[in-house]
Amino acid sequence: MSSSESQTNAADGASNDGSAVASTIVRLTAKASGFARRGRPWLFRDDIVSGAPMPPRLVRVLDENGRDLGLGITGASKLALRMCGPWPACDGADVPTREVFFQARLDAAIDARAGRLGPDDGVRIVHSESDWLPGLVVDRYGDVLVLQVTSSFVQASLDAIVPYLADRLSAGSVVARNDVPTRKREGLPQEVEILHGTRKLEVAIVEGAVTHTVRPLTGHKTGFYLDQQPARALVKSLAKGRRVLDLFCYQGGFALHALRGGATSALAVDQSEEALAQAELDAACNQVTGLQTRRGNVFDVVRELREKNEQFDLIVLDPPAFAKSRRELPGAERGYRDLNRLALRLLAPNGFLVTCTCSHHLDGPRFEELVRQASAGLPFRVAMRKRLGAGDDHATLITHPESEYLKVLLMQRVGK
Ligand code: SAH
Repeated sequence: MSSSESQTNAADGASNDGSAVASTIVRLTAKASGFARRGRPWLFRDDIVSGAPMPPRLVRVLDENGRDLGLGITGASKLALRMCGPWPACDGADVPTREVFFQARLDAAIDARAGRLGPDDGVRIVHSESDWLPGLVVDRYGDVLVLQVTSSFVQASLDAIVPYLADRLSAGSVVARNDVPTRKREGLPQEVEILHGTRKLEVAIVEGAVTHTVRPLTGHKTGFYLDQQPARALVKSLAKGRRVLDLFCYQGGFALHALRGGATSALAVDQSEEALAQAELDAACNQVTGLQTRRGNVFDVVRELREKNEQFDLIVLDPPAFAKSRRELPGAERGYRDLNRLALRLLAPNGFLVTCTCSHHLDGPRFEELVRQASAGLPFRVAMRKRLGAGDDHATLITHPESEYLKVLLMQRVGK
């Protein structure tokens, strides 16, 4: 496809008679063409030849020589163009219809999760750029689908997305959890809406023989921390006979998996009374015993535990993102270092620490360095046993490091 074939081509956003037209072609600068060819999915206004703000739409992206680079979605924010992967030439048009585009991408995403679509399964169905659907997240909790939309074009295309998804996945309820600050960049409102079917306040999912209560309308993120599934499985596998401390526990996901795995006790700590109440309800529902909850600031609780000479054989440290922006990194790094040190000092001999960060801005090597610094000078040796991340339903795009936000390390106090 070349721009000259296009009916609506107007890389400068204007037709021959000077009136604005709906261009479905975007041409990149030579430098940006190189980035896009190497797989970078985010492009900015300066990367586009016309440089003018583009109304939100699906476009065909061309390199500096007019060669096809696939499809993209334009947006009103600084992030002017998000790539949506290769697409064959369309008959007589630059781009497919919204219906054809979304159905093909949704089918690919759903097919990739085949085998994880049981009635009680929780799984991320669409993970934005990684599924070539930038600005769209879809989580499935049984027959409830929860969407998170951060692109104006996707928002305006919900009529082509929601009925198709609901039908393909036999959903009884589709919810938009659009209460995320990143929507402000595209001028989209903060809202929680029922897009299809009934309003469900709670839905149960089963993960590794543990039932979790998900609250699609009010829970954190889209209702649950689906991304920590691999780490919960690891904790379950390590827990037998161990005393467990679950720090920043939310609804006690890690603690419940530890108790199911045979932990002798689990102390779950969070500042949220509501989250702890849910943890206790879920423990009862799973018929596990040995859960203790404590409401408080983790920084204070770990110091108190230390003063009382308490020790644990397995500690999970899963704080919220301390660095919401690059500017906040120095303070966040101090927070991670201090907290990891405090947690390591509570480990019994041969005890494990599962330590996490979900800060985009803190990359894996830097996080490892902070944990190394936290363990320096302790009266025992600390070994790194494993690196984990989000589950494979949250696949990272190898050319898009920003998509690898969750880093998890398994550390162990070696010997006495
Ligand atoms: N580990 C959880 C997710 C943790 S999310 C899971 O796997 O499901 C982060 C949690 O930290 C939230 O529940 C929040 O209430 C809690 N939190 C944030 N700051 C805190 C603090 N200073 N002390 C205690 N809890 C805190």
